[in-house]
Amino acid sequence: MNPYTIFTEIINGQAPSSKVYEDDDVCAFMDIRPVTPGHVLVVPKIPAESLADLDPALGGKLFQVGQRIAAALRASEVAAHGVNFFLADGVMAGQEVFHVHLHVIPRTPGDGFGLRARPTSPKRADLDYLAGSIRGALDR
Ligand code: AMP
Repeated sequence: MNPYTIFTEIINGQAPSSKVYEDDDVCAFMDIRPVTPGHVLVVPKIPAESLADLDPALGGKLFQVGQRIAAALRASEVAAHGVNFFLADGVMAGQEVFHVHLHVIPRTPGDGFGLRARPTSPKRADLDYLAGSIRGALDR
């Protein structure tokens, strides 16, 4: 698959964007279809398609920049009362642009944003079983 998406064009200045932050590794800009006012995307400059392709150090940097932007969303005219981070990894997770990005979504009362889910109440044994399976897959 072509590793270059609209985000590479934005990073290279070949497509318009409203930039919030930039350094050697990371760029952050306003989402063109914000789910709440002030919705920002934090993007690595390297066009990693998915989390599996992303250097973990760069993943850490995405989170660090996300933290700073979250603070700015509270302190700026956006006047966020809270902030959600969201990252879609893979089609099944809702990823539409195949260049890893962290959504930083400011929250204000009555903003209408929400995640739909149906939490369940599994038995401890079932939790333990899956925990073991996941532990076994770490560092594999
Ligand atoms: P995702 O579903 O997590 O892949 O989200 C992709 C996000 O990229 C969506 O929220 C889009 O609105 C946003 N997006 C797509 N194209 C642009 C663009 N040119 N500038 C800013 N945001 C964009």
